[in-house]
Amino acid sequence: MEQTLAYNSTMLERARAIQDQIIAWRRDFHRHPELGFQEFRTAGVVAETLRRMGIEVTTGVGKTGVVAVIGEGAPVIGIRADMDALPIREANPVAYKSENDGVMHACGHDAHTAILLGVARMLTDLPDRPAGQFRLFFQPCEEAADDEGKSGAQRMMDDGIMDGVARVIALHVASELPAGKIAVEPGYTSAAVDNFYATIIGKGCHAASPHFGVDPIFLLAQVINAIHGIRSRRISPIRPVIVSIGSVHGGIAENVIPNEVEISGTLRSYDDETREALWRELEMALGVARALDGDYKLEIKKGCPSMLNNEAVVDTIRAVSHDLLGADALITDEPSLGGEDFSFMTRAAPGAMFLLGAKKDDIDRPHHNPLFDLDEGSFAVGAAVLAETALRLNREAAAR
Ligand SMILES: [Zn+2]
Ligand SMILES: [Zn+2]
Repeated sequence: MEQTLAYNSTMLERARAIQDQIIAWRRDFHRHPELGFQEFRTAGVVAETLRRMGIEVTTGVGKTGVVAVIGEGAPVIGIRADMDALPIREANPVAYKSENDGVMHACGHDAHTAILLGVARMLTDLPDRPAGQFRLFFQPCEEAADDEGKSGAQRMMDDGIMDGVARVIALHVASELPAGKIAVEPGYTSAAVDNFYATIIGKGCHAASPHFGVDPIFLLAQVINAIHGIRSRRISPIRPVIVSIGSVHGGIAENVIPNEVEISGTLRSYDDETREALWRELEMALGVARALDGDYKLEIKKGCPSMLNNEAVVDTIRAVSHDLLGADALITDEPSLGGEDFSFMTRAAPGAMFLLGAKKDDIDRPHHNPLFDLDEGSFAVGAAVLAETALRLNREAAAR
């Protein structure tokens, strides 16, 4: 197919020429989803496909990640795709339905992986590709973390993938945005995500004589109030923050005051200063238990930092979208307090993640839902914008 392309074809034409292949890759990954750090088959298919393109490949990076290198020297432009699936049972009656029961590509990482393989194909085949290196990261485990609390991006970075990288980009499909549209905003676009696990410690006793003990359920009621006060009373109202309590567990019988109760929840924020303030405020809120003669234990598991899209990189992505897709292609989308571990990479080098609209039909198919699915016609658009942005970032970096 590619041979029929003219020398001066646009990147969109090049992507459309391999669109069927990208879709076939995606359906293969979709049929065989794997959870974080278990992407053995996926990584194997990725590595084998890249090698057949004649690309230099390193496997086992960050446990199950794959790095592909196209070209050499400086500048180095990084492009990242994540490969992991979710513990969800697919409800779509499609031919490419998950064959790994209870596991599903319900966030579109199958599409990310297939699109990046398409980008590899396009950059490899490109006539007079400029000097410099395009480093492709096929990343494991974006959705979760290992026993030491590290996600795939961190593990790959521990193995040095960001060394010498001048700019780094990625896309995320968006099942709720119109197919083929691009959304990318400068500044914070996803939150720092820290989860907390606390135990409120009292002193168990007979429920008929609460004054002989210290009721941890009563303590918890005061603590929950204090925790919910963090967002409304303790943090500036113009700083986006979420403090959510997701679980409360305690007690065994109606006439027994227990020794302790447990709560867990999540802290979300944008700027690092506010993030650290949340850690202190949570400690203080739990301190209410001590003021009332009880005690507490608190563990905060620190996850990914907030994602900061670099303004200049965003400008390049917008210019590429405009040039390849026309003035109508760019849409706006509100930033969210979701988490995305690509944020680690955008803190190691200026970078940005854009959203690729991929709404399939009129059925509601949110991310992480058993009905999640994508418009496959959008994949060529994503591949074209990624590849063309990488080329322009290469030229911009080389010109500096
Ligand atoms: Zn997800
Ligand atoms: Zn995702």
